Amino acid sequence: MTLNSQPSLQYIKGVGPKRAEALANLGIHNIKDLFSYFPRGYLDRSQIVRIADLKNYLESGEPVTIFAEVYRQEARRTRRSNKLIFMLTVKDESGFLTCVWFEGFYWLKDAFEVGELLALSSIPTLDKLNRPQFVHPQFDRLKSVEEDEPDWGKLFNTGGIIPKYRSSAELEKVGLDSRGFRRIIRNAVDHHFSAIEETISHEILQRHSLCDEPSAIHSIHFPASFQELEAAQRRLKFEELFFLQLMLALRKRGAQQQLRGLTYNTESKLVHQLVSTLEFELTPAQKRVMQEIIKDLLSPYPMNRLMQGDVGSGKTIVALCTALIAVENGLQVAFMAPTEILAGQHYQTLKYFLKNLPVNVRMLIGGQRKVLREDVMEDIRSGSANIVIGTHALVEEKVEFAKLGFVIVDEQHRFGVMQRAALRGKGINPDVLVMTATPIPRTLAMTLYGDLEISIIDELPANRKSIRTALRTESQKHKVYQFVKDEIDRGRQAYIVFPLIEESEKIDLKAATKEYEHLQNNIFQNYRLGLLHGRLKPEKKDEVMQKFKAGEIQILVSTTIIEVGIDIPNAIIMIIENAERFGLSQLHQLRGRVGRGADQSYCILIANYSWYDAHSKGIEATELRDEKEHARTRLETMVQTTDGFKIAEVDLKLRGPGEFFGTQQSGVPALRIANLIDDADLLALARTEAFDLIKNDPHLRQKSNECIRKHYEEEFREILELGNIG
Ligand code: ADP
Ligand code: MG
Repeated sequence: MTLNSQPSLQYIKGVGPKRAEALANLGIHNIKDLFSYFPRGYLDRSQIVRIADLKNYLESGEPVTIFAEVYRQEARRTRRSNKLIFMLTVKDESGFLTCVWFEGFYWLKDAFEVGELLALSSIPTLDKLNRPQFVHPQFDRLKSVEEDEPDWGKLFNTGGIIPKYRSSAELEKVGLDSRGFRRIIRNAVDHHFSAIEETISHEILQRHSLCDEPSAIHSIHFPASFQELEAAQRRLKFEELFFLQLMLALRKRGAQQQLRGLTYNTESKLVHQLVSTLEFELTPAQKRVMQEIIKDLLSPYPMNRLMQGDVGSGKTIVALCTALIAVENGLQVAFMAPTEILAGQHYQTLKYFLKNLPVNVRMLIGGQRKVLREDVMEDIRSGSANIVIGTHALVEEKVEFAKLGFVIVDEQHRFGVMQRAALRGKGINPDVLVMTATPIPRTLAMTLYGDLEISIIDELPANRKSIRTALRTESQKHKVYQFVKDEIDRGRQAYIVFPLIEESEKIDLKAATKEYEHLQNNIFQNYRLGLLHGRLKPEKKDEVMQKFKAGEIQILVSTTIIEVGIDIPNAIIMIIENAERFGLSQLHQLRGRVGRGADQSYCILIANYSWYDAHSKGIEATELRDEKEHARTRLETMVQTTDGFKIAEVDLKLRGPGEFFGTQQSGVPALRIANLIDDADLLALARTEAFDLIKNDPHLRQKSNECIRKHYEEEFREILELGNIG
C-alpha cells in the first residue's frame, strides 16, 4: 500500500502519545502501517434480528445481533456450585430476552444502567423453561446515558462482520485490545481514506480480476459481506506475494547482469579420474544433477543453483566433481560447512577422494594453530590452494583468495541470503552451489530460493537398507540398552544423543556429561564410550571423531553437534534421548547419521513427555497441551516415514513457514496476510507476473508501472541492495 503522504499516527482520533508509543513498539509508525495491521480473524455478527424472532435462529449455530434496551439486572447463585451468576434482561419492541454470564460478576454488576441501549451478539440457546437466551454475549453500547440519540457509529463489536485484532498485555494496558484497535482503525479509514494509493498496475489487476487498493484496505477491516472480504483478501495476498516475487526477480536479474568473465572448459580429466576410482556407481539422479550444473558452467552467467537431496543421497560427491571442473579451469573453490566438525569431516572425505589427484585441499577453521593458519592463508592468497574448506569464517574473516571462482555452501538452511551475497562479493562473480538436506515443498522453494535454479537428487544409492524407527519410553530403556550391547558385541557401533538447548547450555552440558558417566559406569561398564559436545576444543572433537571412526569408541554419547553430515557406516544405531524436545528436521537429520552402510540400521526415540510438565512454569495450560501434542505428532511422524519430503511437510504445518525457515535470517520478509502453503495458486500467479514484468520493463520505467516501483522502493528500502531496480 502506498500513501501519498504518510500522516503520523497522532492525527488519528483516539491515538495519544501513549498509544502511539505502544504502536511504535509493534512497528506501526504511521497510518500506512496501521492500515496494514490486518485483522487476525472475523466474527460474523451481521445477522440483525428482533428478539421475538430469536427462536428461529436456535438451530443455525450462528451468532445473531439484537438491538435492545437494558430492562433489569440481577445476581443469582447457582444451585450446584453456589457461584454468583449475572443476569441481564433486555427488551426491544418485540419482547424480552435474558442474557447470562457465569463469570465476571464483579465487573458486570456495575457495567449497565437501566434504559441503556445495547447491541448484543451471541448464538441463541434455550434456558430451562425453553425460552431463548444469550450466554456471554458480545455487546456494544450504542448510547451513553448522557446522550440522547443513539450513535450508530459506535457499532464496532456487533451488527456486522467484526474484525479481530492481535493484541498483547502491553497494548491492552493502553486500551488497545481488539475493540480499541477497531476504534482507531475505523477513525483512520474514515478520515484518511483518500490517502491510500494504488500499488499495482491496472493491467495486472484487470488480468486477474483483482480489486483496487483503497477498496481492499477498506474491506479487509470493515467488510460489508463475506464476498467483499474474500475479494479484499485475494487482492492483498496477491500484492504481498507479487512484491516478494518482484524482489526475487530483481535479485535474479542482478546476479545475471554481470557476466562471469570466463568460459569454462567442462571436459575435465580430473572428473574422469575421480569417477573411475569410486567404489560405487553414481545414481542416475546424481548424474542428472551433475549435468544440470555443467550446463550452468557453460552459460556466460554465474551459476546460482540449489542442490536438494535427502540425507545420504550423495550430494558431496556431486559437488566435488563439479568443483573439480572449476579447479581444472584454474579457479579456486570455497567449500563452506555449517560447523567445524562438519568442515573437518568434509576435509577428510575430500582428501580421501582426491588422494591420487593433483589437487591441493586446505582447511581453514577457527581453532587452528597460528602457524598452520598462516600457511593455509598463504596458500589461499597465492592460489596454490585449489579447494578451501571452512565454516562461515571463510566469508566473515579477511580471507583473500587469489582467484575464487566456485563456492559450495553445505546445508543452506544455516546460511542466509546475506551471507551468500557477501561471499559472492569476495570473488569475481563466482558460481554458487548451495546444498541442502532440508527438502522444501516446491512452492516454498520458489519463494525462499526464487533467485536460484533448483536441482533435486531424488533417489538414494541402491545399497541402502531402510532404517527401522521405534518409539520407546523411559521405562523401556533397559531393553534398549540391552539391544545396543547385543549389536556392539556383533561389531557394530551406536550413537546416543542428548538434547542441548541454548538457554541453559551449561546446565545441559553438565547433564550430558553426567549421563555419559552414568552410562559408562553403570550401564555399559565393559564397553568403550566417548563424549562429544560443542564446548570441546576442535582438536579434542577431532580426536573423538577419529576414534569413533576407527572403532576404538563403540558408543558415541553426543549432543546435537553430530546432527549434520557425519558419515560412519558401521554406526547402525541412533538412540535419541528426550526425543520429545527435538524438532522434526533435527530428528530426521540425526536419524540420517545411520543407515549409511549396507546393514540394517535402527533409530530409537526415547520419549519423556513428563519433561513438559516439569517445565510448564509460565506456560499456559493450552500452550502446554499444544506443545505436547506437537511432540507426539513429531515422534509419530518419525516412526511412520523416512521420506524427507513428508517430514518437511509435517514440520512446516506444525511450525509455520516463518519459523521453519527462520525468515529473519533468510532475507525473506515475513508475510502479513498470504500463506505460502494455502495460497500456492496465487503465489504462482504472482510469480509469473513479477518475472514477466521484470523481463519486459527491467527498470520499471513505463508510466503504468510507476506505482509498482514506488511501492517497491518504500517497502523494501532496507533490503534494496540485494535486489536493486537499478
Ligand atoms: P549427503 O547427501 O547426506 O551429504 P553424502 O554425500 O554424505 O550424502 O553421501 C553419503 C554416503 O554415500 C557417503 O559415504 C558417500 O560416499 C556415499 N555415496 C555417495 N554416492 C553414492 C552412490 N551413488 N552409491 C553408493 N554410495 C554413495
Ligand atoms: Mg552431507
